[in-house]
Amino acid sequence: MPTTLVWLRHDLRLADHPALDAAARRGAVVPVFIWAPDEEEPAPGGAHRWWLDGSLRALGADLEAKGSRLVVRRGPSLGALREVMAETGADAVFWNARPEPALARRDASVARRLRVDGVEVQTFTSRLLHDPDAVRTGSGGSYRVFGPFQRRFLAEVEIAAPLAVPVLAGCAPATWPASEPIDALRLDALAQDGIDWAASMRPAWTRGEAGARARLSAFVDERLHAYSDARDRVGEEGSSSLEPHLHHGEVSPRGVWAAVRAGAEATGQPAVAEKYLSEIAWREFAYHVLHHHPRSPVTPLNPDFLRLPTVSDPDAFVAWRIGQTGYPVVDAGMRQLWALGWMHNRARMITASFLTKDLLLPWQDGARHFHDALCGADLASNTLNWQWAAGSGADAQPFFRIFNPVAQGEKFDPAGAYVRRWVPELADVPAKFVHRPWEAPASVLDAAGVTLGTTYPRPIVDHGVARTRALAAYKAMRPAREEAEAGAAA
Ligand code: FAD
Repeated sequence: MPTTLVWLRHDLRLADHPALDAAARRGAVVPVFIWAPDEEEPAPGGAHRWWLDGSLRALGADLEAKGSRLVVRRGPSLGALREVMAETGADAVFWNARPEPALARRDASVARRLRVDGVEVQTFTSRLLHDPDAVRTGSGGSYRVFGPFQRRFLAEVEIAAPLAVPVLAGCAPATWPASEPIDALRLDALAQDGIDWAASMRPAWTRGEAGARARLSAFVDERLHAYSDARDRVGEEGSSSLEPHLHHGEVSPRGVWAAVRAGAEATGQPAVAEKYLSEIAWREFAYHVLHHHPRSPVTPLNPDFLRLPTVSDPDAFVAWRIGQTGYPVVDAGMRQLWALGWMHNRARMITASFLTKDLLLPWQDGARHFHDALCGADLASNTLNWQWAAGSGADAQPFFRIFNPVAQGEKFDPAGAYVRRWVPELADVPAKFVHRPWEAPASVLDAAGVTLGTTYPRPIVDHGVARTRALAAYKAMRPAREEAEAGAAA
C-alpha cells in the first residue's frame, strides 16, 4: 500500500481537507506538522503561537480517535519531510496551498526538490475559496476595489460542497515515525515566563476543530439573522468571532460558506446570509491584493504615502498599545485585544485610525502589534485593513476622513457597555460622559470614583489639534491635483 505524507499547515482539521482526503484514498497516511517559524515573514506572533499549541493538541486527539496520529517535527521543512519519508517509506507528499506569496515560493521550491527526488507531490486549494490569481479584471489585471472584485468573484468562482471527514481507519503506515512532544515547541511561551499572559484568553476560546464547529453553529443558529445590524455595535456579540478558527484552518472557508447559506435558507430568509458572505469575500479580496502586491505588508500601495511625514513618539505608541490614551473607546479596544487576542472590527477601525491619524504613527507599527496580539493575525487581512485605515491601500478610506473617537464611541457604544467592560475604572461614569470623561463636572467624576490623570488618563492628544496636524501632513504629501479633488469632495 503506498504511503502519503500530508503536510499540515494552516489547515488543522479533518473535515473538508482536500489533501487529507486525497491521501486517504491513495493508501497509508502520515499527517505531519512541521514547526518552522523562521520560514515565515513575519514569524508567527505570540497569540498565534498560543492558539497553535491548543489547536495541535486538539488535532492530535481527533486523529487518534480516528485511528491515526499527528507527527510533529521541527523545520527546515524540506529536511523534515525527507526524514519522515525515509522513516515511513512514503512516496508522495500532499498539502493544501498557503497563498501568502513568500510561502507559495517556499512551497514551490520544496515541491521542485521533492519531485527531483522522485516523490509525487499534489497541492490543493482550501485555505481560500479561490486561487488568488484566478479572478482577473476584463483586461487581465488585478482589482483594487472590493465591489467589482466581489461581483466577478461570485460570477466566476464555483464554491463546491465541503468534503466529509475521510475514513482513516486502515490508513496507518507500517510503522509510525517518532513525534516531537508539543510541549517541546514551547508555543505556550506566554505562560512560561512567570506571567500567564494567556490567562484571560484561555476561558474565552475552545481551540481546535470541535470549538470551531460549535462557534459556527451557535452563530448560524442564534446571531446570523441579526448580523448585518449587530456587527457594528462594539458592546454586543454580533459577529461570529470565527477569525482565529479560520486563520488556523480549524474550519474551512467553504465549510463556513455552506453552513451560513444552509442556515439562512432554513429560516426561509436566504438574504440574511449576504452580508456575512460578503465579509468572507473580503478575506478572499485581501489575498487577491496580497498576491498582486507582495510588498504591501511593508510598503503603502499608494506611493504618495511614502512621503507622509509620520512622527516617532514611543510614549504615545506604548499608551496606544496598553489602552491608556485617555479616549475610552480606543482604550477599550486595545485592552480587549490584549485580553482576548481578538478585537471587535469597529474597534479595530477606530484604534487603527487613532494610531495613524490622531497619533500620526506609521501604520506598519500598528500592524506589527496586531500581528503579535491577534490569535487570528493574518498577513493578508491585517495588511489590507491597516492600509485601508491609513488611507494608503486598496479600496482605502480617504485620508481626509478622520474618525472622531468620541463620536465613534457614542454612535457604536451609545450606553457605554463596551467601555464599562474593558475600562472598568470608568464603569460608573454616566452614559452622557463615558466617551468624554474630561467634560464631566467634578461632582460626576467624584461620584464615579474617577480622578483624571490618576485613575484614568487625560487624552494624550486633543483630537481637534491632531486632526489639523494630520490634514496638514496629508497636504504636504499629496500632489496638487488630488488635493483639489479632496477640497471639492469635502
Ligand atoms: P465576522 O464579522 O464574523 O466575519 C467573518 C469572517 O469574515 C472573519 O472571521 C474574517 O475571516 C472575514 N472578515 C470579516 N471582515 C473582514 C475584513 N474587513 N477583511 C478581511 N476579512 C474579513 N481579519 C483577520 O482575519 N486577521 C487580521 O489580522 C485582521 N486584522 C485587521 C486589522 C485591522 C486594522 C482591521 C480594521 C481589521 C482587521 N481584520 C483582520 C478584519 C476584521 O476586523 C476581522 O476579520 C473580524 O473582526 C474578525 O472577527 P469575526 O470573526 O467576528 O468577524
